[in-house]
Amino acid sequence: MKIILFDIDGTLIKAGGAGTRALNSAVKAMTGHPEACRSFQLQGATDKSNFENAFKAGAGRKPTKKQLDVLIGKYVDCLPAEVLRSVKAKKYLKVKGVEKFLAGLSGRKDVLVGLGTGNLKEGAFIKLEPSGLIKHFAFGGYGCDSHHRSEVLKKAVERAAKIARVEIKEREVFVIGDTHRDVEAAKEAGYHSAVVLDGFGDPNLVMRSNPEMMEKDFSDQKPWLIWLGLEKDPKGISRATYICPDTPIEHAQYGRTGTDIRDIEVSMKRLRKIKNK
Ligand SMILES: [Mg+2]
Repeated sequence: MKIILFDIDGTLIKAGGAGTRALNSAVKAMTGHPEACRSFQLQGATDKSNFENAFKAGAGRKPTKKQLDVLIGKYVDCLPAEVLRSVKAKKYLKVKGVEKFLAGLSGRKDVLVGLGTGNLKEGAFIKLEPSGLIKHFAFGGYGCDSHHRSEVLKKAVERAAKIARVEIKEREVFVIGDTHRDVEAAKEAGYHSAVVLDGFGDPNLVMRSNPEMMEKDFSDQKPWLIWLGLEKDPKGISRATYICPDTPIEHAQYGRTGTDIRDIEVSMKRLRKIKNK
């Protein structure tokens, strides 16, 4: 069983800044600060840490547990209207090709598709509502599960294991996001990682985080399906099984896709076998 976890913002949809506006309104209502989200980077972090940072920017100190709960309540109240505002302004967008890609994956029996997002569960569903994509997701890990993205992903896998009633190995989990933080979290948890470049990620940081795969969006499904191991590479090159790259580009690609230790061991064994002949 393969588990595929999708980030939301910049990976499935772009909500036109609805989340930021809702959080700004919530902080403003509590502290009077009109644009608390200006002072820090929201993208790729979990809502839990974003909410704490936003409150701190507004009030000058960390929120108490109670204040954080109030803030979350106000955010969730503000969010639907802000999402609707983005839709009306035509600023709510689906990442290209994602609908078709998800529909294809949902039809398979050998994969489970879930969310791996920094959004609070409630916020995640509100943000996804206009996209009509929710139906593809049977489970998820959310920003309310932990401050740490890798823990959020692990929680999602735990829930997937319960649904599938099988044990899930780390190498069966594939994480798709749009920032270096998605990649780092996936690696920390021991999962595969890929990035959608058309999201909110900083390209330099994404490059440095070294995901296994980068694609502009989902308009060409082929590389995604090959990365997921659901389709064979037309050239017959499967993950980490070829030995001598012909070109520097292939070499770089190999470096990105062949980082699985077990695969490297298998390749080395094959290499030795050939050399001994
Ligand atoms: Mg994102």
